[in-house]
Amino acid sequence: MKQVVVHPERCVGCMQCMIACATAHSRTKTLFSASCEDPLPKPRIHVGAGLYGEGFPNRCRHCDPAPCMLACLPGAISRIPETGTVRIDPDICINCASCAMTCPYGVIRFHEDASAPPGKMIAVKCDNCHDRQKAGQIPACVEICKSGALTFEEMDAAMKRKTDEVARTVSPDARKVPEAPGVDLLNAVKKAQIGMRKI
Ligand code: SF4
Ligand code: SF4
Repeated sequence: MKQVVVHPERCVGCMQCMIACATAHSRTKTLFSASCEDPLPKPRIHVGAGLYGEGFPNRCRHCDPAPCMLACLPGAISRIPETGTVRIDPDICINCASCAMTCPYGVIRFHEDASAPPGKMIAVKCDNCHDRQKAGQIPACVEICKSGALTFEEMDAAMKRKTDEVARTVSPDARKVPEAPGVDLLNAVKKAQIGMRKI
């Protein structure tokens, strides 16, 4: 089963994933009209800034077992077996925040949402773009990310590729091998910021 894999070393902090995510979870599914909706659609992936301003895309890991699911007393959180997706049912959620208190990654937010009854505050987090996947599409954040920081692939294949990338990096001829997309740009930004701090 394919999953969204995060490669934080490639993130350039452009936040395009956040915009694409909010649009994908809007009523109208287009950026222009989504920006006029009430409630305003919000992203379920959040890009944080590191020490040097470098980006880190933080999203639900769909843990197994999932602490949020264990903490949810009304049973609003369940797993979709076909995809492994941990999903929150907006009709059952009572907005008690028990899930957010147990999530180690701080990825659950509380607000009104297009999927919830009008005016109801609910717990909201990444749903792996379940509806898009059912329609044969990949998650919106992956589709928009041009630096390769988010990929949608089989976990075994991702781990093998990662191991190969690390192996090439420690190889004596590593300098001859082009770096992964985004790494050059990220390194340039970091060096510039470090240089600016010394001035
Ligand atoms: S919300 Fe947090 S605890 Fe629940 S599955 Fe996602 S990462 Fe894990
Ligand atoms: S806020 Fe909603 S999803 Fe979270 S634990 Fe409470 S009822 Fe469950």
